[in-house]
Amino acid sequence: MKSNHTRVNGTLINYYFHCKRQCYLHGNRLNLEDNSELVQIGRAIHEVKAQESEHTEIAIENIKLDKLTAEYLTEIKKSDADMEAGKWQLYYYLKVLKDKGIVRKGRLLFEEKNKTKQTAVILELDDAQERELERVQTQIEELLLSDEVPKAEKKAGCKKCAYYEYCFI
Ligand code: SF4
Repeated sequence: MKSNHTRVNGTLINYYFHCKRQCYLHGNRLNLEDNSELVQIGRAIHEVKAQESEHTEIAIENIKLDKLTAEYLTEIKKSDADMEAGKWQLYYYLKVLKDKGIVRKGRLLFEEKNKTKQTAVILELDDAQERELERVQTQIEELLLSDEVPKAEKKAGCKKCAYYEYCFI
């Protein structure tokens, strides 16, 4: 079954698992991301990786993916602080590819800034995760339509979030 959740993308799914307020603010375009140093670092990692592996970066429906091989779709994250969010973001990309007839496993690589540590997690999309993805996408759409902005609650990752000043200062 193909997904019809047109407002939802991988970043929103990541934010939904990390923080519903972050998901709401980003989804409703209160977008302060461009000023965030960490977002810039993330982009820089993407760019370096893309240069190292010519012709392997692909873009489908606004999804920029680091690497697609015969077996894996690899997504690189700059820290493993929120593994759950990163996993569901990648499941979402696997589902988009599957809808296009490209069936792959997911490989989530967590890479620290100083590159001393790298952790890899392998994901396989199954029926249960596809059902859960459908449910999450519906919930995100409902959240974005709501008049109420979820409250700011301090959690791991707030200091790295683009909305930190907006939430707490
Ligand atoms: S700073 Fe914290 S509470 Fe505010 S949007 Fe970001 S993650 Fe959520």
